[in-house]
Amino acid sequence: MTQRLAENVDGDFYVDSTCIDCDACRQIAPASFRDHGGQSSVYRQPRNPGEQHRAFMALVACPTASIGTVSHRNARQGVEAFPVHVVDEVYYCGFNSEASFGAWAYLIVRPRERGGNVLVDSPRFNAPLVKRIEEMGGVNLMFLSHRDDIADHAKFAAHFHCPRIMHEGDAASSRGIERVITGTGPQRIDDELLLIPTPGHTRGHQVLLYRDNVLFTGDHLAWSAERETLTAFRDVCWYSWKEQTHSMEKLLAYRFSSVLPGHGRIHLGTPDEMHDHLQRCVARMKEQK
Ligand code: SF4
Repeated sequence: MTQRLAENVDGDFYVDSTCIDCDACRQIAPASFRDHGGQSSVYRQPRNPGEQHRAFMALVACPTASIGTVSHRNARQGVEAFPVHVVDEVYYCGFNSEASFGAWAYLIVRPRERGGNVLVDSPRFNAPLVKRIEEMGGVNLMFLSHRDDIADHAKFAAHFHCPRIMHEGDAASSRGIERVITGTGPQRIDDELLLIPTPGHTRGHQVLLYRDNVLFTGDHLAWSAERETLTAFRDVCWYSWKEQTHSMEKLLAYRFSSVLPGHGRIHLGTPDEMHDHLQRCVARMKEQK
């Protein structure tokens, strides 16, 4: 039976005991949600319509439906907020999936003559979200960063009749993936999209560089709010830290100003700033064995 966590402040919004500590609510609605140690809770009830809107977005994005309201309010405004704009023509899909431990998925919106929309990893296959994506032009291609963040990829591929790209190192062939990537060299998908294999977190991990500006990093690289710099996750490196460090070093050859991860924080900066943070990240990784 789910229970309202004792760490929540009194009031309408609350987090229950099913929270898996994915961080989504804290990133989406930091004015209301906090980490109290191993789980999230509401530390302050929304104080105005803006904060309430963000709290409803967090409720909808939560992969485990762990956020509720005592008054059972309609969360429609949170549902309709997604996909929400992040940077350039890139949108965060919301509707994080528990099957991906709450990983974030993104939609790149492009005209058909440029190749059409790209879904980066997979959110929950949810009817209102699918309808909204249809209104935004559908999905022409799915980029799957690695095996952990692919959730409902098969449902999206079947619905939108789009091919998926994934690396053979993460058993892409056995998953029915249409475009299986091999090797460790970068591969250009089209004028705007460059796929870069980054083995380490998993054997077949890969990142996607969009317009030489936005880097979709899966679970390879993310922004750390605590350290205020780029970071990699040593404790969830499933394949090889040495390989991941080498893959990270390879990224120094590319210019990008935004990092959009599956897990960890988004960061929007400048190419010079990112390069500097990436150098520091590589140096730290080399110190960790
Ligand atoms: S989004 Fe849900 S599962 Fe994730 S930290 Fe918040 S309450 Fe927990």
